[in-house]
Amino acid sequence: MSRATAVAVGGSLSAASWRRRELAVPVRCSLSAAGLEAIAPILRDLKMKCDTPLPVLRHVADSMSADMRAGLATNGGSDLKMILSYVDSLPTGNELGLFYALDLGGTNFRVLRVQLGGKEKRIIDTEFEQVSIPQELMYGTTEELFDFIVYGLARFVEKESTKFHLAEGTKREIGFTFSFPVKQTSIDSGILIKWTKGFAVSGTAGRDVVVCLNEALVRQGLDIRVSALVNDAVSTLAGAHYWDEDVKVAVILGTGTNACYVESVEAIPKLQGSVYGSGKTVCEADLLVFHDIINLEWGAFSTGLHLTEFDREMDSESINPGEQLFEKTISGMYLGEIVRRVLKKMVKASTLFGDSFPENLSVPFSLSTPHLCTMQQDGSGDLDKVGLILSDTLGVKNSSLGARKIVQDICDTIVKRGSRLAGAGIVGILQKVEQDSRGQIFQKRTVVAMDGGLYEHYPQYRHYLKEAVAELLGVEVSKNVFIEHTKDGSGIGAALLAAANSKYVA
Ligand code: ADP
Ligand code: MG
Repeated sequence: MSRATAVAVGGSLSAASWRRRELAVPVRCSLSAAGLEAIAPILRDLKMKCDTPLPVLRHVADSMSADMRAGLATNGGSDLKMILSYVDSLPTGNELGLFYALDLGGTNFRVLRVQLGGKEKRIIDTEFEQVSIPQELMYGTTEELFDFIVYGLARFVEKESTKFHLAEGTKREIGFTFSFPVKQTSIDSGILIKWTKGFAVSGTAGRDVVVCLNEALVRQGLDIRVSALVNDAVSTLAGAHYWDEDVKVAVILGTGTNACYVESVEAIPKLQGSVYGSGKTVCEADLLVFHDIINLEWGAFSTGLHLTEFDREMDSESINPGEQLFEKTISGMYLGEIVRRVLKKMVKASTLFGDSFPENLSVPFSLSTPHLCTMQQDGSGDLDKVGLILSDTLGVKNSSLGARKIVQDICDTIVKRGSRLAGAGIVGILQKVEQDSRGQIFQKRTVVAMDGGLYEHYPQYRHYLKEAVAELLGVEVSKNVFIEHTKDGSGIGAALLAAANSKYVA
């Protein structure tokens, strides 16, 4: 399998830029006793409220299982929408031909093409590009956003080389990964319920996003058929399952977060008697046959979460107050912002960074999760990188070693809470399926496919998440449960689902 170079964007400061900067910010002498005295109670209180000992994790896992059941029982039965994805057959490996994928996440959109060679050759070739989404498009119109996406897709299609070939008499087909809550109406249609992750594009909520995409394709004269609409968790599960049939759950931890899993149709009471999948009514005979991937939309989960004053303030000032509380506690868009709010309170109460108030400390989202990640990796004696981030992003003119250590400690507290809660959520899904079909999850090899920039790039996050899963499952069961990163599973998965739902498949 070969892979062409990607156009990478965004991300944190490179090693080279660190070297160039050298030690630009001198370490100030230590924190004063008075400064420490003012900070200590805030830090202590934060740590207490963010603590996630086993009973808290267990409560979250159990609540996740219970909310899943309630969401499967009736529409609106819980915070978890438990949306059917209409993926009733996962890719088998037999898929053949050229397929495209388009992935609209929260920060980037990616385009990908793949030449599939069937069981033997599998993925013959693949290429992808990634483009960051300009901030103004997040608040623009539906047409502007979709035109931008289709423009990127069209440029990518133009660059298709002779390594890729379309079967005669067919046209290009694409799987559309759209990582926002959608009420799926078939494998290739779905209505946007609401924007999340800071998006506020006008005119899309309540519309079929495939229609929006098709309209933009027509406007730009690009002839390509949208064969599958999925979210990123579902496409990750499909992509990972292509290589490993033991993959039963997929979790995304990027700008936002979501999870999905393979469910048997008989465990979906709200579906009984309705028309399902490829036009078949669910009846006794079908029960044994059908599975679907259920999209939890777990960002909306909230049962048993203990929010701090910082979470509550961030939530109330967000564009979707009261919503997506799990997402706001565990995902990449928000972790840096929570830390900024803690620091702001500390600076107001003490001389953490000297006498002046850092100019950017009041700017929402000035501290990002990649910044936290870089600060947590700093093992140098003087914590130089922490000092540089504080000066570059928040405008802290100079910071003492003590203050830098406190900042690292806060990052760790917020990241540890988020990742452990994410781990508890995963166990909630696994135990729900295990309770329904004893031995199907815990007594044989089960894989949870993970993807998303936060999980991929933040080592402490990964470590704490796995630790929480192991704590909850215990030693024996943990031997059977594998939490595995599936790089690019989402893009390939969407293309595979386009192939599995191709108009040209006999
Ligand atoms: P999307 O969520 O837009 O589909 P990604 O899965 O690539 O995109 O996730 C991007 C998010 O991942 C960023 O918004 C950020 O929160 C997080 N992230 C990216 N790089 C890092 C990093 N080095 N450390 C921690 N988090 C990161
Ligand atoms: Mg994504």
